Amino acid sequence: MSYLAKNYNRKKISFKYGKGSYLYSSDGKKYLDFVQGIAVNCLGHANPKLVKTIKDQSKKLWHVSNAFQIPEGEKLAKKLCQKTFADYVMFQNSGAEATEAAIKVARRYFYSIGKPNKNRILCVKNSFHGRTLATIFASGSKKMTEGFGPKVPGFDHFVFGDHKSLKKKITKNTAAIMVENIMGEGGIKVIPDFCLKELRKLCNKKKILLIADSVQDGVGRSGDFFAFEQSKIKPDIVPIAKGIGGGFPIGAVLMNKKVASGMTPGTHGSTFGGNPLAMAVGNAVMDIVSNKMFLKNVKNLSKYFLLNLNQLKEKYPSVIKEIRGRGLLIGIQLQKDQTKFIKKLMDNRFLTIRAAENVVRVLPPLNVKKSEIDQALKIISKVCSELK
Ligand SMILES: *Cc1c(COP(=O)(O)O)cnc(C)c1O
Repeated sequence: MSYLAKNYNRKKISFKYGKGSYLYSSDGKKYLDFVQGIAVNCLGHANPKLVKTIKDQSKKLWHVSNAFQIPEGEKLAKKLCQKTFADYVMFQNSGAEATEAAIKVARRYFYSIGKPNKNRILCVKNSFHGRTLATIFASGSKKMTEGFGPKVPGFDHFVFGDHKSLKKKITKNTAAIMVENIMGEGGIKVIPDFCLKELRKLCNKKKILLIADSVQDGVGRSGDFFAFEQSKIKPDIVPIAKGIGGGFPIGAVLMNKKVASGMTPGTHGSTFGGNPLAMAVGNAVMDIVSNKMFLKNVKNLSKYFLLNLNQLKEKYPSVIKEIRGRGLLIGIQLQKDQTKFIKKLMDNRFLTIRAAENVVRVLPPLNVKKSEIDQALKIISKVCSELK
């Protein structure tokens, strides 16, 4: 009997330890892990540099209040700002907290310039921004919000790709448009570069803010440090989480100077957010992942993986409908429900995870080896041939 609440549908498997791209189960089996905690362990399991960092820092200082200076956080914030569009950073502990804080930053900005009625956030219908009360209503998903009323007000929705509905939904009360550059849970749907460019222009024209939820596709996952870099736009507010801690819970909101002006002392806080232990790990992850050569390697690996997956799609059109994604955020959209496919991959000691629209999500660590991608391709090919 389990004393854990039943809010997850867990697979009957647990793990004793992990190393790089592999997980070792309690019953002694070795699995190729292309879930990596859902795009969290960007440097794989038990990365030696991260292990050393956490060991060293844990002997010095774990936690102090944000009532004091935290040099490790100053350092990480500086790195994030020097690498990106951002001028300021606010640390949290998770993705949902970061997206919710992003919403607060947007509203507070308009409040601070004397426009408190500009407070509505326009989001993509059935997007994913986390599981807090505000963020589930931001997603506009019936499944996630059912039974959790009353509805949190302040969110409007448009349909992904429907530019007409997007323009129609902008009102004088709209404060910001919030999008995932690549819809993760929603089925690895990429916003094309030209759309993101137009979206930025539209926000400028309407004098509203652009929030780019980069919790899943950020921190190198897309092959660029941020997915929106490829379209050369600058959002106003960017929540991040998943990858930045490499497995340690860290979230953050990156913002430009303009919107940061609303966040005066006392407007937001977090007991754990940005503590020295978390920040030490974040710095170590950042030093590796923000490196140009590291990101170039992610792009090369991605190209190789996507090319081969597309060849499998050509070979097994009755199984694979489409290959989606960018960088190492990859979706294999199947013709049918993906449950059986994922189960068969798992029987072959290969772990993946589902997303919406019959998609099998494939999320290797960003430092995955080419030979490990080959191993994955071999198993995917085998399962395709069995299911065709
Ligand atoms: C995972 C995710 C979140 C929520 O992150 P949590 O750490 O689970 O709260 C928010 N936005 C996006 C795009 C995500 O993928």
